[in-house]
Amino acid sequence: MDASGQIPDPVQRALKILEYSSMPGTSRHHWGTDIDLNAFENSWFEKGEGLKLYRWLKTNAHKYGFCQPYTALGAERVTGYQEERWHWTYMPLSVPLTRYAREHLKDSLIAGFDGAATATKIGVVDKYVLGIHPSCMQ
Ligand SMILES: [Zn+2]
Repeated sequence: MDASGQIPDPVQRALKILEYSSMPGTSRHHWGTDIDLNAFENSWFEKGEGLKLYRWLKTNAHKYGFCQPYTALGAERVTGYQEERWHWTYMPLSVPLTRYAREHLKDSLIAGFDGAATATKIGVVDKYVLGIHPSCMQ
């Protein structure tokens, strides 16, 4: 960052935004398949009521067709957004749309806003739109 707190390089600026926010035109929320729960801090899900809820979701959400796409980055999920314990996807709808996106959504289609040119440089579709936990595709 420079002295004003801004990130001058457009790609680095986009990567910072992409830690938790999607680029216009790339959010799974727009598909109507994904929801955010009541708290937007992972820490809420680490104690008390939040921990109880998160443990229940990890054990039971799959039974109802839901999956947490943005788990912690690591061996199983190597690219994409940071962990979002509040974000869940409804697989009966999102699996076919993810397959469609894999086939048809291209970085070059991301356009119409300042910074859109960074989509291709970053590989937004592969790394972010498709950067979900593999269990959310089964
Ligand atoms: Zn979300």
